[in-house]
Amino acid sequence: MSRLRVAIQKSGRLSERSLEILKNCGLKFARSKDKLFWYGQDFPLDVLLVRDDDIPRMLLDGVCELGIVGENIAREVMLERNGSDGMTCRRKLGFGHCHLSLAVPEDMEISSASELEGLRIATSYPSLTRDLLAKKGISTEIVELSGSVEIAPGLGTAEAIADLVSTGSTLRANHLRELEVLFHSQAALYCTTRSIDDEKQGLLDRFLSRIEGVLQAAESKYVMLHAPREALDKITALLPGVEHPSIMPLEGSDRIAIHAVCGETVFWEHLEALKAVGASAILVLPVEKMLA
Ligand code: ATP
Ligand code: ZN
Repeated sequence: MSRLRVAIQKSGRLSERSLEILKNCGLKFARSKDKLFWYGQDFPLDVLLVRDDDIPRMLLDGVCELGIVGENIAREVMLERNGSDGMTCRRKLGFGHCHLSLAVPEDMEISSASELEGLRIATSYPSLTRDLLAKKGISTEIVELSGSVEIAPGLGTAEAIADLVSTGSTLRANHLRELEVLFHSQAALYCTTRSIDDEKQGLLDRFLSRIEGVLQAAESKYVMLHAPREALDKITALLPGVEHPSIMPLEGSDRIAIHAVCGETVFWEHLEALKAVGASAILVLPVEKMLA
């Protein structure tokens, strides 16, 4: 019987959420002693726990069919392999947000990336940085470093850096200033584009539809409220991501009950706007599972 393999980060920023998604898909695992391989117990999908940098290569080499990794790393490896089309992004996962930014020393008098022409840029993402700068028509010398990129300008090995930023605190601590965002990244589910047999394809489709359900459920809320019948159109328009709510009459009242699954985030502002057009008894509930 065929089995699928998904590679996720063993320990780091993406590990916890990657595992949470798999668990929310109803998958249970028998953990091996070395914890690098988890056997899927009631769905034929096994987990490989590895360094995030290895995930794209494992997909391209056919070691696994699926992988959860930051777009920054996936794009870097795909470019390294000349835009190799052995893997494809199936779904952005909504966590692990960061951006690849150009940064320069605080006291460097420079206001745009184009002024970096001909200078040295230190980065751990050489292919991605080169590609993004080339698209802007800027040619620079790329200095590849595997870590501690932020100290390169201080050491005199480069004039600027291209590094991952989320809050900017590392930059500030190193007296660097963000000049320009080159690339927005988040964790995503990547899939092999190699041909796989029908049985595996069937498993893959089932898994992808579960993941889709988990992510949609996480983004969705079930909203219930009472409203005057004549406010139905206004209410429908105010419910984020809803086209056809369910309508129920309320015994002995000219008001109706409206139930709907909101596909987008429901903010307090939405509830206040609903109240303003006559809604009452508004309840917002989480959605646990969803299958379209
Ligand atoms: P590994 O041991 O797996 O190689 P690592 O140190 O390379 O771990 P992490 O620091 O855990 O990796 O980052 C993993 C991914 O998290 C990054 O590739 C990126 O997609 C994302 N990420 C989110 N925010 C940040 C950030 N502020 N700095 C670096 N990466 C971030
Ligand atoms: Zn890494």
